[in-house]
Amino acid sequence: MKIEVVVSFQVDPGGAERLRAALGDQAAGREFEPGIYEVRFARREAGLPELIEILEQLRLDYSLTEERSFRRRELEGALALHIAPGPEATRKSPRAHVEEEEACPVCGAGTGLPGELVVEGEIPDHPAVTVLPGGRMLVREEVARDLVAAGITGCLLRTVRDAWGRRKDVFELLPVHMLPPLQTPPTRFQFREDFSCPNCREGGRRLVSMLYYDAAEEAFMDVNVSTERFGRSPRIWREMVVSQRMFRILAEHGAEDIQVEPVILV
Ligand SMILES: [Zn+2]
Repeated sequence: MKIEVVVSFQVDPGGAERLRAALGDQAAGREFEPGIYEVRFARREAGLPELIEILEQLRLDYSLTEERSFRRRELEGALALHIAPGPEATRKSPRAHVEEEEACPVCGAGTGLPGELVVEGEIPDHPAVTVLPGGRMLVREEVARDLVAAGITGCLLRTVRDAWGRRKDVFELLPVHMLPPLQTPPTRFQFREDFSCPNCREGGRRLVSMLYYDAAEEAFMDVNVSTERFGRSPRIWREMVVSQRMFRILAEHGAEDIQVEPVILV
């Protein structure tokens, strides 16, 4: 596993000037234009504390995220894999909402099976598998057929319609199997009360670490979701965990823009 710390910050024209002055020689002739910056550091690499100190002094807002990458061997050796949409999928995903009678009208969180997924507008010419932000997945017919043939467990395949009621030629893969609560620690997440749904109080968590479960292998099906809900209102979701064979089918259909991490059993 390789860990990188990513510092993201935004500078306005005044901030750019102050940053240039503060960096002095370290700026190495680099022009800091107003804009959004992302600087990557290997874990414990020199320079990270210094940059944070400068950003603090200049009172520039920044965020720190940890990015983990894995060798193929590490992924293949895991019992289950945590998957999430990659950056492209997040950017291009169609807008969709959930129609559910008993769910929270603000964030869509419900106690039972989530309601029908209604895609707003056209679904762009998307790949065979689209992992939607918010813990849902759209698959084209050929993928759905392979999933059924393989007898994939823990999910339902449902038709999808648009706002005019027309059936789309994709299926929603709806996870129906919930995992036991995460083991915390070692699982770490941040909770912000003001990010949770103001109506039902769900969500408000941001995942910081990998997922750790104190559970037997039998607790996992091919498709699973976390008990815990994450995200910032109104977008609240459960994290998705899939088996090796489920992931292989997705990969065979060219699903590349997926963030994938091993799930760890403790
Ligand atoms: Zn809610």
